[in-house]
Amino acid sequence: MQSNANLVTERPTFVSHLECGLTGERYEADRLHGLSAAGRPLLVRYDLPAVRAALTKEALAQRPRDLWRWRELLPVRDTANIVSLGENETPLVTLDRTGERLAARAPIVKDEGRLPTGSFKARGLVMAISMAKALGVETIAMPTNGNAGAAAAAYATRAGIESIIFCPDDTPEINVREIAAQGGRVYRVNGLIDDCGKIVGEGAKANGWFDLSTLKEPYRIEGKKTMGLELAEQFGWELPDAIFYPTGGGTGLIGMWKAFDELEAIGFIGSRRPRMYAIQASGCAPIVRAFEAGERHAERWEDAHTLAAGIRVPKAVGDFLILDAVRESGGKALAVGDPAIVAAVEEAAKDGLLLCPEGGATLAAYERALADGEIGRDEQVVLFNCATGLKYPMPDKSRTLDRHGAIDLAGL
Ligand SMILES: *Cc1c(COP(=O)(O)O)cnc(C)c1O
Repeated sequence: MQSNANLVTERPTFVSHLECGLTGERYEADRLHGLSAAGRPLLVRYDLPAVRAALTKEALAQRPRDLWRWRELLPVRDTANIVSLGENETPLVTLDRTGERLAARAPIVKDEGRLPTGSFKARGLVMAISMAKALGVETIAMPTNGNAGAAAAAYATRAGIESIIFCPDDTPEINVREIAAQGGRVYRVNGLIDDCGKIVGEGAKANGWFDLSTLKEPYRIEGKKTMGLELAEQFGWELPDAIFYPTGGGTGLIGMWKAFDELEAIGFIGSRRPRMYAIQASGCAPIVRAFEAGERHAERWEDAHTLAAGIRVPKAVGDFLILDAVRESGGKALAVGDPAIVAAVEEAAKDGLLLCPEGGATLAAYERALADGEIGRDEQVVLFNCATGLKYPMPDKSRTLDRHGAIDLAGL
């Protein structure tokens, strides 16, 4: 058996410090951190001139194609702390029929459903759990709409860390069960994800759990950032014109935006950036509302509802980071309704690709942006499908056949 060199080769690491995403206040690296003193997310900073001197595109091209090939831009210092389940690079799938139907350049889906635990939450959680292991954490707790909890449970179990997971009681059934199947202790809570987050916060204080809530620890962003690193390389170090990202807590959008800056600082890409589109469901669109109102922070969205559970996040602690990135990029925050999401999932299936509802939301939003002239017909657009469509309920369209009777073969 050949082991993955990325998991066993010691490579230099370059984390210099952490800083508050809002105030810039500095924090020491290699310590356990939650939010900053200002109650905002901490961002990991690297000695980028040193990375520039240490890493070339050619050296990178020689490495196995997974998330860990980006070690110089990741926080894990020692390979002994890498808790891997095989974080493969995800493919770009072109929706040719969709392009023809819309008389536009075919949109490309980055299909994150191929990752361990079936969603891109694996990228964030493999990093958060590897760092938790490095920093001696014994028990983690997190609120989840499903996929994050599943990834947290899987990696925590692998790392020998206990995981306690709280999800809204209407979380997709498969998510609730996969969390438990992978060793997490899971509670269904009669509330939304931020209600679950409150319980985690209180339990963290009372019981010493480490709070792994979205953006309340610094390393999930670093894992999610690899979507941007990967995309840049897959596009030959030129970025697409626009990225449509289904936005809940926004980790991926914030992470990719950070990745692009780091890639520019190490000389791998130029200053051109994609327009970033934050996509939400009309039943839960706090970022869209703040975007339209010209505000930097988003108020909590009351009575949130959408079948796209992964983006049912009424309040995001990194709201300003999402809104800053969207605005700086010249993109927008857009909301689409559940019927449009369902229709988009069906449309993509005609290209042979089963999207999750959140991925469907990006296609629905893309179609509307195209119709509104927000996106040009010849622009290259990347949509994010964040989880495998296989996790979600599908309508039963099967027919039945009685093998004991005469079968009208011509009529089949
Ligand atoms: C978590 C999740 C999202 C939202 O991702 P963020 O980076 O937290 O905004 C979207 N879709 C699915 C399927 C998810 O699990």
